[in-house]
Amino acid sequence: MKKCEVCGKEYIKNDNEFLKHFPEFIRKNLEYIPACECLEESKQREMEELERKRVQECIKNKVKKYKDISVIDKRFLNSRFENADMNNDNMQLAKRYAESFLRKDKQVGLLFYGGVGTGKTFSTACIANYLMEKGKTVLVMNLGLYLNKLTTGWGEAERDILEQVEKCDLLIIDDFGAEKGLDNNQTGWRAEKIYNLIDGRYRSEKPLIISTNLNFSEDEEKCEITEKFSTQGQNRIRDRIIDMCFPIQVTGKSKRGLTKKDLIEFIS
Ligand SMILES: [Zn+2]
Repeated sequence: MKKCEVCGKEYIKNDNEFLKHFPEFIRKNLEYIPACECLEESKQREMEELERKRVQECIKNKVKKYKDISVIDKRFLNSRFENADMNNDNMQLAKRYAESFLRKDKQVGLLFYGGVGTGKTFSTACIANYLMEKGKTVLVMNLGLYLNKLTTGWGEAERDILEQVEKCDLLIIDDFGAEKGLDNNQTGWRAEKIYNLIDGRYRSEKPLIISTNLNFSEDEEKCEITEKFSTQGQNRIRDRIIDMCFPIQVTGKSKRGLTKKDLIEFIS
């Protein structure tokens, strides 16, 4: 007697009246049929698996689209929690943040600020790669390149980029405040473009992570972000950032350059 390969239940005789209308070879095939749901269930699972793959593929394409307008280099892509020194408070925080990002419906933003070479970009990149691998859409922007593109006939793309800025799950602005190459009479224009970008994100009510070498201070007078971006006495950009991002000072020891340890290793 034929049995179900999954649950081992014996097949039962098919007493469907309709069977007699079929030719002999079909009747033979359908004489015994499964008494369980295993076959249907496995078909259902197959369909679900296909659907899951299709959704995954869609997400992948979306992420790829963001990667194309994202400003991420090889070093950025290779930054992963697995390669990080997790004995570092900021890395611990970054990892917790990335994990919570997946669990929570509403995410907060972060402002990583501190001196050059403290690993702000590295922490940010680890968060980005972690989330992209889990299918989240992450847009990583370099404002200098963005503004450059807007000045070199890329203006019509602004609307498209702003649309992505509002849609992606996480927006990262790397090296905020380091943008160069614009002369002074463009300061107003520049501030306007940056404000539009950040305000667009603000209105989408989605999280923003900023990394910057500029110093942040609760005291507006001492805050380099205010200094760099205030126009006509207004601090619209700083105000938006404070509304969206939790400030975290990164004071890690510089990972760039040789350390005393490197030197001792070298001469010993
Ligand atoms: Zn079965």
